Amino acid sequence: MNKNNNEMLKTAQDLIKKTGQKLNLNQEEINSLIQPDRVIEVKISVEMDNGKLKTFIGFRSQHNNVLGPYKGGIRFHPEVSREEVIALSILMTLKCAANHLPFGGGKGGVIVSPKELSEKELEKLSRGYAKAITPFIGEDIDIPAPDVNTDSKIMSWMLDEYEKTVGKKSPATFTGKPIEFGGSLGRNEATGRGGVIVMENLIKSLSKDYKTIAVQGFGNVGYYFAKIAFEKKYKIVAISDSKGGIYNENGLNPNEVLKIKKETDKVTDFKKGKIISNEKLLELPVDILVPAALENVINIENVNKIQAKVIIEMANSPITEEAYPVLEKKGIVIAPDIIANAGGVIVSYFEWLQNKSNEKWSEDKINQKLEEQLQKAFKEAFKTSLEFQTNLKEAAFISALLKLKENSSPSFLL
Ligand code: NAD
Repeated sequence: MNKNNNEMLKTAQDLIKKTGQKLNLNQEEINSLIQPDRVIEVKISVEMDNGKLKTFIGFRSQHNNVLGPYKGGIRFHPEVSREEVIALSILMTLKCAANHLPFGGGKGGVIVSPKELSEKELEKLSRGYAKAITPFIGEDIDIPAPDVNTDSKIMSWMLDEYEKTVGKKSPATFTGKPIEFGGSLGRNEATGRGGVIVMENLIKSLSKDYKTIAVQGFGNVGYYFAKIAFEKKYKIVAISDSKGGIYNENGLNPNEVLKIKKETDKVTDFKKGKIISNEKLLELPVDILVPAALENVINIENVNKIQAKVIIEMANSPITEEAYPVLEKKGIVIAPDIIANAGGVIVSYFEWLQNKSNEKWSEDKINQKLEEQLQKAFKEAFKTSLEFQTNLKEAAFISALLKLKENSSPSFLL
């Protein structure tokens, strides 16, 4: 069993306990919230290219559906475990609630190293997993989406298998699909775009004129965050990927950096900047620091060296629990992941709505609605943080738990 996954589950449960106590929830209510409604474990047998059968194990955790159907991604990774999917499904419940989405929390995964599979094997595994969870999902029951190592193509295989099995069209059962299978415009950029919206709301609420940004991670989230912030005239002074970073105090153009990244797979091959390490990037004297790669990158070892004035948590949990209070004491304000990186699930909700109503929305409409939705979530967290005299992360959890409580009648236990 993976130790990190157990820790992740404990952290998610501790967050609920801590927030629940602040709201005077009783022990039974807290216990009930910590437990997922159901965890499905499935066996998938795949005929490999060499003709031999191989068995894979997959999970789907359905944590809570008080606010609507379970919603959450499916990841393919060798370290997937029961504990991990439960922890992530708990966080999805809170993320959906904090962002006013009519969804509950779910998460799925298969224990596999997808890079070791051929395309044909990957398709068989995706279809096998979809078939195995078919009795438990549906457009008003549980709506999966892509996550680590799964993408729109995998969603189209899974949807096709699901529809074949149930014998009817049901595109709203999966989100994150290719456009031609009912996917939504704006989905690719949504998480990065949402992060910039939250950043601008935070800066405004602090009445500051922050401009310089360092972005760690240059994948889907980091690139679109940098691109959209650059278009809005912020100065991106540092960018990195897993192989290192570049720094230019006069600013970098993310589109030019992407061109090089596509050619050589390394942002450090971009010549208009000084090469820096990922550790140094986090310690730069910038206004805004954007960790958009991995969890726990700001921790007790480096927290005293962080000089940014605000941090936008684009990766999930980029700051450890021990580092959080140290940053707060230093006066650094943090936009929490549960709101900052919610753009993806919000546009997934728009995709689901479009599928259910057989509509196709323009990209402008999607971007405008994304902005409205995130603004509302941010303002609510900000107000709650003042009311409860706490940071924005705890405030977002409080808002989420209050919504769950209001909608559970007459108590969580029913
Ligand atoms: P991605 O795989 O597209 O990109 C990850 C980037 O991080 C790559 O550029 C990679 O080189 C870089 N990276 C990896 N290890 C690194 C290291 N040690 N130091 C610096 N950079 C490193 O992934 P993504 O979709 O951009 O997701 C990034 C983070 O955001 C993840 O934590 C993910 O869980 C979270 N997130 C993503 C979405 C989404 O919609 N894609 C939504 C919510 C949260």
